[in-house]
This record gives sequence, structure tokens and C-alpha cells, in this order.
Amino acid sequence: MNKAIFRLMVGFRRFREKYYVPEHSIYQRLASSGQTPKTLLIGCSDSRVDPAILTGAAPGELFVVRNVANLVPPCATVTNGFHGTSSAIEFAVMNLKVDNVIVLGHRQCGGVRALMQPSETTGQFIGSWIKIADDARTKVLAEAGDADDETKWRMAEMESLKVSIRNLHTFPFVQEAIKSRGMNVIGIYFDLERGQLWELDNELGAFRQLEI
Ligand SMILES: [Zn+2]
Repeated sequence: MNKAIFRLMVGFRRFREKYYVPEHSIYQRLASSGQTPKTLLIGCSDSRVDPAILTGAAPGELFVVRNVANLVPPCATVTNGFHGTSSAIEFAVMNLKVDNVIVLGHRQCGGVRALMQPSETTGQFIGSWIKIADDARTKVLAEAGDADDETKWRMAEMESLKVSIRNLHTFPFVQEAIKSRGMNVIGIYFDLERGQLWELDNELGAFRQLEI
């Protein structure tokens, strides 16, 4: 077993000691009554933005789907392709009936960088996937084409988050859940350089820092 895997195994032992104590095991309850998370979180695969670590969420608290650049595709008819993110949204909203959907964007997103600076090393799957956020790229180039790369990159991270929030609304069951039971749709940006969270004001289309 190599060192990296060994560390993970040691971590699992610690996890088991914490959560499988005989007196009161969270997993005993979760295994017998199933999961009832209140929040779906759509995050990036980036190893620095693990939702449970960032929020201290307990097992069973967050239903999570992670992909490259935390993108939500628009609702599409299922004729071809495989719709992993859409499946997770469907299950969370229709079956788990979550109260909240959070899209968690972040600073230094490699997926967004690939969107802004496509290169020969951008893989075929990534190149196709990040096209979801093409509108964000167009907007940033139109509004800040002369800005330095870091500025454009940061703007694109925020703009692509808005695209994902917009796309969420294209799913009929999301619209229905918002209308019938007040499900919240929330955009959060994690600035991992500064340790800050910024929330998207859906009406103003602007981000404001959360005072936590
Ligand atoms: Zn990312």
C-alpha cells in the first residue's frame, strides 16, 4: 500500500472510532432510517473545496454532487449522453425534497481557467463540459477584456456560478419546488486565498461577502 492510500486508511480508522461508538452511532440511525439531508450542494471536484470539510457538516447532512467547475447544465431531453449532475439534482429535489440547493463556486478554479484559456492540454471531455459556461466567458471578455488574467479568471468564476444558477431554473421540477414549497437556490463563492465566503444576490446579480 502506498503512502497516500495508507494515510486515507488511517483516516478511515479515526472516522470509525468517532462515528461508530456503541452508545450512540450516527450511522446506526442513518442506516436504519435512511438519509434526510436538507441541502443539495453542487461543488467543484477541486481537492481544496470539500463541502463537508468547509462546512463541518455531519454525515447525512449534505447531499453532494461535485464536477469540474461546479457547473449545472441546462435541462435537456435524455436522448444521448449521461447526465450525472442532472440526475443528482433530480433525486435531491424530487425524492429527498431538499429545502436548499447551494452551488459552491471557488477561487482558482482550474475548470474556469480552462474555460478562459483553452489550451492543447485541455482534455476533450473538459473542453466539451465547460462550454456550459460559455456565456460567462463571453461576458467577462466583453466587460473586462483588457484586465489581467487573474481578474478575468476571478470574474469568470463568479459569472459561471450565475450561469449555473440560471440553468438550475430550467429544470421544471426545480421551478415547481421553488413555487410550491419555497425551496431556496443559493450561490456561494469561496475565496480560498482569503478564507472568505461571498453570496450571490439573485436579484442584483452581485456578490456580497458574508459576515461570519
Ligand atoms: Zn474548481
